[in-house]
Amino acid sequence: MTAQLYPLNWKKKNFSIKIFCSIPNIATGILLKAGDAHFVIDPGDGILRDLNTEIGVKKLLEISDVFITHGHHDHVGGVWSLLTYLRVMQKKSPLTIHYPDGCVEIESIYNAFKKVYSRSITYKINLKTIKKSSGFTTNNITVKPFSVIHKEHLSGDKTRQVPALGYNFVFDGMTICYGGDTAYCEELVVHARNADLAILEAGHDEETPDDMHMTMKEAVAIGKSAKKYFLVHVPE
Ligand SMILES: [Zn+2]
Repeated sequence: MTAQLYPLNWKKKNFSIKIFCSIPNIATGILLKAGDAHFVIDPGDGILRDLNTEIGVKKLLEISDVFITHGHHDHVGGVWSLLTYLRVMQKKSPLTIHYPDGCVEIESIYNAFKKVYSRSITYKINLKTIKKSSGFTTNNITVKPFSVIHKEHLSGDKTRQVPALGYNFVFDGMTICYGGDTAYCEELVVHARNADLAILEAGHDEETPDDMHMTMKEAVAIGKSAKKYFLVHVPE
């Protein structure tokens, strides 16, 4: 058991990010602030508790966008609670969920939510699949998604690539690069370079590289190309 790292905070002018948690197989939870706008990234279990403590109900109801890197439970475990909470508290403004094309977890959670609460959802939910790595702007922030390499185990020794993205968030000339869960890959190398902050997972606790997570050495090598970096998703 290592010392408790979280939360991790970074702030420059009106742009900030707080990583409440990023523990492999347990939970991730990230809040991004750009000016007055709040965004949630990878809402794992515990996200409601952390958002409630950090920004309170009023701001929670104003959240416009959620960004999902991939569908593993430690990154989407809090989506059901978030959607339900916003309904119970009568959110009125729309919520857009951005997620990689083919991420069945998000679509399944959304479909189940719609089925259970079809008569009492107070706000519009937009599901936005990201198919290509082209940038877009939403609620004053520019978002540049990029593909990463992240696999999961099937039965036996087999693995498969899951729909997985990293994101660069650009606001007021500053860039935060969040790689999500990824093995060492060129896309991440390119997107992390010169970022004001790079958030890099170092989830593979051996020396030999694999195709699911980065080793500490790989993550540090990429981190050094950014102005500052955080290593996250390290097994505890
Ligand atoms: Zn993960």
